Amino acid sequence: MTKTVAIIGGGVAGLETAKQLNSLGYSVKLFEKSNTLGGHVAKWDRLFPNKRHASEVVSSLTLSQGNTQTLVGTTVSSIKRQHGNFIISANSNNHEADAVVLATGFELFPAEKKEEYGYGLFENVITSADLEQMFIKHGKPAMASGHKPVRIAFIHCVGSRDEKVNRPYCSKVCCVTAVKQAIEVKEAIPNCEVFCFYMDLRMFGPGYEDLYKEAQSKGVTFIRGRLSESSEIEGGRVQIKAEDTLASTPLKMSVDIVVLMVGMSPQLDTSKLAADLGLSLNADGFIAATDLHTNPTETTTKGVFVTGACTGPNNITDTVNAAKATALDVHNYLSR
Ligand SMILES: Cc1cc2nc3c(=O)[nH]c(=O)nc-3n(C[C@H](O)[C@H](O)[C@H](O)COP(=O)(O)OP(=O)(O)OC[C@H]3O[C@@H](n4cnc5c(N)ncnc54)[C@H](O)[C@@H]3O)c2cc1C
Ligand code: SF4
Repeated sequence: MTKTVAIIGGGVAGLETAKQLNSLGYSVKLFEKSNTLGGHVAKWDRLFPNKRHASEVVSSLTLSQGNTQTLVGTTVSSIKRQHGNFIISANSNNHEADAVVLATGFELFPAEKKEEYGYGLFENVITSADLEQMFIKHGKPAMASGHKPVRIAFIHCVGSRDEKVNRPYCSKVCCVTAVKQAIEVKEAIPNCEVFCFYMDLRMFGPGYEDLYKEAQSKGVTFIRGRLSESSEIEGGRVQIKAEDTLASTPLKMSVDIVVLMVGMSPQLDTSKLAADLGLSLNADGFIAATDLHTNPTETTTKGVFVTGACTGPNNITDTVNAAKATALDVHNYLSR
């Protein structure tokens, strides 16, 4: 009899796992709580490192689903183990499966928590995710008044590497996202001055260092320093105070838009599913695998696997690679 795998989450991790398990001949049910597939990637405009349109990646994964049964608008609220199988409760219906893959992803750090930065208080303080939406809708950033910005500051590490908000870890993708977005601003509005305030620049992936060089060559200014506070001034502009930690001098600057590079936080609903299944969370609140080096997709509960950003911050390439590995591990488990 064909075995059934339930995949929770229709982001790139869930879509790639479904595609692989489908082609291995399993019956796959993919649960996605929002009404569209693609997860966070569907909310981005162009991707680092090569500025490809995110919609291309999402469509190619969505179109290659074969016989996957896709249930959108369907939130999985609990998962229970019963006689070696799993009962998945979603929108008041129960579904049975032989194995479960958690691909529930991440949440953006709620920038309001850094009250001193002014998100939710000042209309021209936005997040990196808001800026992606501006690029999708208008191809360029604009002030809330509709005016063209002439000076923009990007603030790195918002809700990452910050003990005060209980996010001590690095979110990995926000340095390169800031550099990519800074280049896009320069391309859309060449006379706009662009500043990146960073703690360290973590350009770990292929092509990332090239983007950094490109940003410098296009006139983006990098200042090593952390924002201490923002305040609103005339015309809805924003005054920021920071310390230039290389020059050891305090710095005050007024800008038209502040972009907060929000980190990747653990998904809150996922901790409930993890508790149902007796899974452990790691110190940062993401789902822990049994062995970080040799078993990164298996959990301590037999038949339950994890993949993608619900295990920690990751870019799309690493997420898709993890999803392929997860499919193979599920196959090995079900064919034992
Ligand atoms: C601002 C920003 C820009 C980025 N830009 C890039 C880039 O240019 N290039 C790149 O390589 N990476 C980029 N990334 C990283 C990229 O977004 C992640 O690698 C990717 O989203 C991880 O995919 P995922 O499927 O694991 O998680 P997600 O995208 O979070 O998808 C998880 C899905 O699970 C669903 N879900 C959660 N809980 C349930 C439930 N209980 N029931 C049903 N469904 C559920 C969610 O609705 C969501 O659709 C960026 C990240 C950020 C923050
Ligand atoms: S990737 Fe860069 S911006 Fe993001 S948390 Fe790490 S150091 Fe900070």
